[in-house]
Amino acid sequence: MTRRHYSFWSIANEARRGHRGWAPAWRTPTPKLSYDVIVIGGGGHGLATAYFLAKNHGIRNVAVLERGWIGGGNSGRNTQVVRSNYFYKASVDFFEHSLKLYETLSRELNFNVMLSQRGIVTLAHSRHDLETNRRWANAIKLNGVDSEILSREDVKRIEPLINLDARYPIHGGFVQWRGGIVRHDAVNWGFARAADALGVDILQNCDVSGFETRGGRIAGVATPHGVLRAEKFVLSVAGHTSALARQAGLRLPLVSMALQATVTEPVKPMLNTIVMSPGVHVYTSQSDRGEIVIGGSADVYSSYAQRGSLPVFEDFVASAVELFPALARLKVMRQWAGIVDISPDTSPIMGKTPVANLYINCGWGTGGFKAIPAGGDTMASTIANDRAHPLIAPFALDRFERGALIDEGAAAGVAH
Ligand SMILES: Cc1cc2nc3c(=O)[nH]c(=O)nc-3n(C[C@H](O)[C@H](O)[C@H](O)COP(=O)(O)OP(=O)(O)OC[C@H]3O[C@@H](n4cnc5c(N)ncnc54)[C@H](O)[C@@H]3O)c2cc1C
Repeated sequence: MTRRHYSFWSIANEARRGHRGWAPAWRTPTPKLSYDVIVIGGGGHGLATAYFLAKNHGIRNVAVLERGWIGGGNSGRNTQVVRSNYFYKASVDFFEHSLKLYETLSRELNFNVMLSQRGIVTLAHSRHDLETNRRWANAIKLNGVDSEILSREDVKRIEPLINLDARYPIHGGFVQWRGGIVRHDAVNWGFARAADALGVDILQNCDVSGFETRGGRIAGVATPHGVLRAEKFVLSVAGHTSALARQAGLRLPLVSMALQATVTEPVKPMLNTIVMSPGVHVYTSQSDRGEIVIGGSADVYSSYAQRGSLPVFEDFVASAVELFPALARLKVMRQWAGIVDISPDTSPIMGKTPVANLYINCGWGTGGFKAIPAGGDTMASTIANDRAHPLIAPFALDRFERGALIDEGAAAGVAH
């Protein structure tokens, strides 16, 4: 059965035929013994890297090896926020490129990723917070990205249900109107489908358990299908990066922690934007299904358990209720965590490594979903040309040796 372009006509035709004519969105291929590039990790970054390798650089002999199911890691567990309101120019340039790619991604992938640019409001809880926000918003504007300072009254106008006189009263804030949410599963599935259509092999249930090295290079990776070989390898395994990189002889400055989120039962529209409070460590939005999505800080110890701890959960739910007292009566439907990889300056680590043919894409911490299209685009260019794409050159691993840190801790929105 051949796969078809999604369009009004193909969907209408299939509706008439009981949807019996669709081919699977991607194949389940038999692994080849060798590839040009092997991408380890089938999250958004790995899939996007494979897609752009095939599409922009004509490198189609590519495999994505995923230990579970694609998007089963952080890329399918996040709270879907996309924005480009960072402080430093290097970050703004990179994340703005990503947001622009998101703005046309549905067309690019022929897959509706459900981008909703409803605005992201960051709250200030004191005069001093407001001063910092003003500096932040101005830095963003100077870097050419939209950003607007909000008074207390503006915040109330935008979010009528907010409690301005919370324990830490709200003094105002700032907004990026082009910020929003994107359906996370659709991003994973869209990239997987489009990469597969260009010939990329997506191998699920394919755990990489070790590396075969020869002359300072990676020759192959150990998998349930035996050793698979390639010219170049990319690690895109988020919270598992430091453990896997160690097996390739690489020590990385990363800690892995659980970051959790929760959704309530669905209700009628009550939140208009995404509201983020770095002061009380919570952010919240309403999904298209009506659920209230709430996220908070990372757990404060290292862990690989995709659950998260109760005290942190209680803390961010209490903060959400303080900001929006109407939430108090809602039932929680689901709670979960993902394992995020946090670097010392909370910025990503991307590009080449001291191992000649091994590339890394990690350190995304609590904020790498918004970076998926640009991460894939720039990593693919870096791998194809064996030279850092200009947008990710500042995020190279050797910045920790050079002391050229890009400290975006404050822009994370919540503590980690
Ligand atoms: C609760 C939560 C909320 C978040 N909210 C946001 C948000 O609102 N906005 C935002 O921008 N970011 C957010 N993030 C962060 C974002 O989700 C991640 O930074 C991003 O998804 C990372 O993508 P990735 O492809 O690098 O990693 P992942 O999606 O985690 O993919 C890595 C994949 O590697 C696989 N893997 C691991 N080890 C191996 C191995 N040995 N062999 C083969 N495969 C392996 C894993 O199974 C996984 O599927 C959030 C994260 C969490 C957990």
